[in-house]
Amino acid sequence: MKKILVLEDEENIRSFVVINLKRAGYQTIEAETGEDALTALRANPDTKVALLDIMLPGIDGFEVCRRIRAMDSHIGIIMLTARTQEMDKVTGLMTGADDYVTKPFSPAELTARVDALIRRTGGDAESASADEISAPPFLLNIRNRTLEKNGQRVKLTQVEYSIIKLFMENPNKALSREEILDAVWGKDYFGELKIVDVNIRRLRLKIEDNAQKPAYINTVWGYGYKWGG
Ligand code: CA
Repeated sequence: MKKILVLEDEENIRSFVVINLKRAGYQTIEAETGEDALTALRANPDTKVALLDIMLPGIDGFEVCRRIRAMDSHIGIIMLTARTQEMDKVTGLMTGADDYVTKPFSPAELTARVDALIRRTGGDAESASADEISAPPFLLNIRNRTLEKNGQRVKLTQVEYSIIKLFMENPNKALSREEILDAVWGKDYFGELKIVDVNIRRLRLKIEDNAQKPAYINTVWGYGYKWGG
């Protein structure tokens, strides 16, 4: 059974989430604090997705997200954000989260997000026509899902990898934000288009020489993005 970590200090919300995930066929690991969550993840390295509340006693959800990413780039991370904290979404994504769900959420919405993230991060489900795509200074290894720039590994999340792969498969082609959303998050994704922009911003910080003047991921104003050209 696929393991999901649920980090939430409010017991009512945590048990609501856990019951619904179990009903959807997942195994759950519960944590009340960020520190407990990190310990639980070290003990359960096969965890597929972590659901992180933000406001917690001790270290907050953003810090937990940062620390998880420092040890594991493959796990899927969904932030549980409060409706009033619009900025949480952007901050969460910038610290390495893949998605966010706004409280209050329905069980159906939450499990749909978890299912979609597991599909995306599932790895070898996609058929690769070639093992590598080379676009100097970049080399994308499809078998290992890794990216190198000038021979140095660039640490990417699974979502960032999927975006860069889409770009490298479509060089010099303007891709609309909707196309990127459909290709990377899936057509059944219920989120907002701006998740594309936030992920691109994060990706630029990792791959561009100067993220303020991007040379690889170019903005196509009012439309989307283009790799190269
Ligand atoms: Ca809380």
